[in-house]
Amino acid sequence: MSIKNNIAKYQQNLPAGATLVAVSKTQPVERIREAYEAGQRVFGENKAQELQLKHEALPKDIQWHMIGHLQTNKVKYIAPFVHLIHSVDSLKLLQEINKQALKVSRIIPCLLQLHIAEEETKFGFSQEEVINLINSADFKQLKNIKISGLMGMATFTNNSDQVRKEFRSLKHFFDRLNGTPLPPTVEMNVLSMGMSGDFEIALQEGSTMIRVGTAIFGERQNKNA
Ligand SMILES: *Cc1c(COP(=O)(O)O)cnc(C)c1O
Repeated sequence: MSIKNNIAKYQQNLPAGATLVAVSKTQPVERIREAYEAGQRVFGENKAQELQLKHEALPKDIQWHMIGHLQTNKVKYIAPFVHLIHSVDSLKLLQEINKQALKVSRIIPCLLQLHIAEEETKFGFSQEEVINLINSADFKQLKNIKISGLMGMATFTNNSDQVRKEFRSLKHFFDRLNGTPLPPTVEMNVLSMGMSGDFEIALQEGSTMIRVGTAIFGERQNKNA
């Protein structure tokens, strides 16, 4: 299947209200352009400098999402244009995003990344940490960020029950937050969960945003990315 056909297939099958983020990390600009020409406007990358270069090279109506772990010293590269940062996993990072957003007079939408997988290696907050964070005095000072929702990555396993359980718990937490009074800079609209191998389960469990790379573009140019 061509990139164009894949984009059409996934766009057509997307439930109402859900967004497809085409994960283009490691893919060359020409392949991203092919997806763009098929109508795709939302792309996700996991490295700040690669994101910056691709933003410069490609049409300006693309919405660029940062989906990978973000180091504080890299925020400045993407602050002027990034549409949504999915991978906020510390107050320190949020403070830096706020600082860089202020410099370019923006309010940058962010998702808080929850650690939902069994694996030790994945980044993210616990539920308790999220509650403490959004109710903290430090958080209330951040006027140039906006929390739009949550993101999570399930365990990398063939066990679909396990994956479903993890997505379900994230959705429960999302709903629970929605049912409580939230600070003015927090809204629970976006639930980013699901990748090539598990987006169908994620959508069944209430995902509003799936991040699909290899199922659209094929194998990555660098498998370690
Ligand atoms: C690479 C990546 C994806 C896409 O992975 P695929 O399995 O290629 O669909 C989604 N989310 C994050 C955070 C990623 O780093």
